[in-house]
Amino acid sequence: MSNIIIIGGGVAGMIAAITAANKGNKVTILEKNNELGKKILITGNGRCNFTNEYMKGDCYSSSLSCDDETNTNITQEFADVVFDRFSNKDFIKVLSDLGMSYYVREGYYYPKTDEARTFRDTLVSEVNRLGIEVVYNFNLRSIDRNEDGFTLSNKEQEYQCDKVIIAAGGNAAPKTGSSGDCYYYLEKLGHNIFKAKPVLTNLKADYPDDLQGVNALANISIRINNTTHNTEKGFIKYYKGMLSGIPIYQLSMDAIPAIEQGNKVEIVADFVTDSNIEIALKLQGTTLREALYKSINPKIVDVVLKGNNIDPDTSIDNMNSSDQEHIIELFSNVNYEIIGFSGFENAQATLGGVDIREINPQTMESKICKGLYFAGEIIDIVGRCGGYNIQWAASTGTIAGINV
Ligand SMILES: Cc1cc2nc3c(=O)[nH]c(=O)nc-3n(C[C@H](O)[C@H](O)[C@H](O)COP(=O)(O)OP(=O)(O)OC[C@H]3O[C@@H](n4cnc5c(N)ncnc54)[C@H](O)[C@@H]3O)c2cc1C
Repeated sequence: MSNIIIIGGGVAGMIAAITAANKGNKVTILEKNNELGKKILITGNGRCNFTNEYMKGDCYSSSLSCDDETNTNITQEFADVVFDRFSNKDFIKVLSDLGMSYYVREGYYYPKTDEARTFRDTLVSEVNRLGIEVVYNFNLRSIDRNEDGFTLSNKEQEYQCDKVIIAAGGNAAPKTGSSGDCYYYLEKLGHNIFKAKPVLTNLKADYPDDLQGVNALANISIRINNTTHNTEKGFIKYYKGMLSGIPIYQLSMDAIPAIEQGNKVEIVADFVTDSNIEIALKLQGTTLREALYKSINPKIVDVVLKGNNIDPDTSIDNMNSSDQEHIIELFSNVNYEIIGFSGFENAQATLGGVDIREINPQTMESKICKGLYFAGEIIDIVGRCGGYNIQWAASTGTIAGINV
């Protein structure tokens, strides 16, 4: 039996604690907040999308994968090893064995109650049932490696343990406790830490005020230095000077590192694909406005036509095929240059953290400091929206908990 301390009581920390306790270890969680799993309550719009039917390495990125293809492979291989060891099916079984019910919608898993609290309380209840000690309001301020293991301190209290699991999260939504303060202590232990960047967040663009509040279905692409990288389908939301919505969150994974590297980043919305606009533009006896309003949000139609000095009252009868092609082209390529992004307060996740090349994915143990393990968002790997980050926390937490 080892004496294990876990820093952070989010998904990763609680699951690591449950797993390590089930292996017969003495486990203590040191948590900064006065409750466990505070962030879970705001996940999935309060419903907690905890995993996904499709779970593979290609849903994950790291700071390495922002550089080139070889590094993308390193990232995906790391994630694939993790999911080989503890998959989405394993996670669903663990939750079912704890008696939690769930439902699946379009491959996304949620608690059957539709309440994130259910997921949080299921884990908290198991932590309590197993008699795991939780020290609340403990804000870690130093980690020292010594002959007997580790000494962890908040400058008032000191804890000694054989092995430690760092599950302190990243920097996203810092009001929930994950304010990135553990990076510093890990650097002191010899780890390379990639700078934390907010991801799964809003992108800032200059667009006319008339579009505020619009929510429109489109195929949305990201263009970096004039080359299209990825396309997502879904709703683009124009909100307080930002572009928002799930597709924008997904594309922010490519956009934010590219902006930080000084590249030109554009979001291109295609409102034409999967519409009947081409048919509408051929119906004699109607106006251009009438034709476009049948498929595209009127405010977007008005803004794009005005911006291109096109009269919306033009009769379809007076438009030849090249005029029609021009309209199709305009609404297939509504282009916004990205001039910034929301900070950590509004981000769902963190890109950056502990360099994956310094972690053994089979065990989650540090290759730099023996007896030190990692779980969850503190690791420099981030998943798409869709349950990928909670699954990541659960898989890495379980692997760390088994091997510690
Ligand atoms: C608004 C929002 C919605 C989201 N929705 C989803 C979703 O639906 N599906 C999904 O998969 N993911 C979602 N995510 C992402 C997901 O919640 C996180 O990736 C995941 O919860 C990370 O778990 P973690 O245990 O690694 O870190 P955290 O949950 O951040 O837990 C870390 C814990 O460590 C504690 N801590 C930090 N520093 C210290 C310290 N110095 N001393 C002691 N304790 C410390 C913190 O207080 C915290 O309790 C969402 C995130 C946000 C912000």
